[in-house]
Amino acid sequence: MTRFVYVNGTYHRYREAGVHVEDRGFQFADSVYEVIEIASSALVDSERHLARLERSLAELEIPPPMARGPLLHVIGETVRRNRVREGMVYLQVSRGVGVRDFLFTGKPLQPTLVCLARHVGKAARDAAGVKGMRVVSVPDIRWGRCDIKTVMLLPAVLAKHEALKSGAAEAWFVDSEGYVTEGGSTNAWIVNAEGELQTRKLSNALLPGVTRRTLFDVADELGLPVKEAAFSIEAAQGAREAFVTSASNTVMPVINIDGVDIGNGQPGPISVKLRHAFHGIAEHMALGTGGISSTS
Ligand code: PLP
Repeated sequence: MTRFVYVNGTYHRYREAGVHVEDRGFQFADSVYEVIEIASSALVDSERHLARLERSLAELEIPPPMARGPLLHVIGETVRRNRVREGMVYLQVSRGVGVRDFLFTGKPLQPTLVCLARHVGKAARDAAGVKGMRVVSVPDIRWGRCDIKTVMLLPAVLAKHEALKSGAAEAWFVDSEGYVTEGGSTNAWIVNAEGELQTRKLSNALLPGVTRRTLFDVADELGLPVKEAAFSIEAAQGAREAFVTSASNTVMPVINIDGVDIGNGQPGPISVKLRHAFHGIAEHMALGTGGISSTS
């Protein structure tokens, strides 16, 4: 349960928290966000998430609402007030509030900052990881700057709706050349015939996932080769294994794509191994009772 939400300097009760109707995030999706996992009362990979937030803001010429130190304090305080030990932090920064106008070159706006923390049970997440997930493919109808983490998520909303209708938990976007770009809210991976962990090379077509980046470290630690190259749905269906990565899933085995079982239709051993190794290698920033207290 979320009790308090930080909005522009104040911790509001959840039911009362809100932003202005002329917030540009609401009117134009002129807004960026981050989701950071909380595991054992620590922020996971916060350094990389905050660096990506700063990059997203810079790409859209939105000034940072505050420096990294105070922002970490807001995150720590939001987590503390909501008593979250396992779950997620959601951060959103919009360009701010102004009389509706496509242009943002007038009077500088004060960016809107929202920070929300929510408990997500570890048992439920572990159970999902043991089961794995089904995926369906959909055409990638998104814009040309998917490397920026904006709240312009309607294609993902619709893609996941299609997935749900087919009994799947995630959709994989496929580009006009027949290659998988990424999932609706995850990066897509396979274990190919050579035993390499294969994921698409970064470009404007996909989000530079923080979990994807940390998985390179995990693979290195486990001595597993990584190959950055696009793959088709057919290649994924014939792969040894498939999985997705994201802050809310860490490593989630994919057991079926468009109705075709991957391997024997059970989570693959490498995906499971990566999932188990992940938290031992990702960066953890401990959250004490007074917010951020130490790093490890
Ligand atoms: N790709 C998309 C489109 C996403 O929305 C997300 C996460 O929300 C990811 C990939 C995974 O990114 P991360 O590992 O940073 O959570």
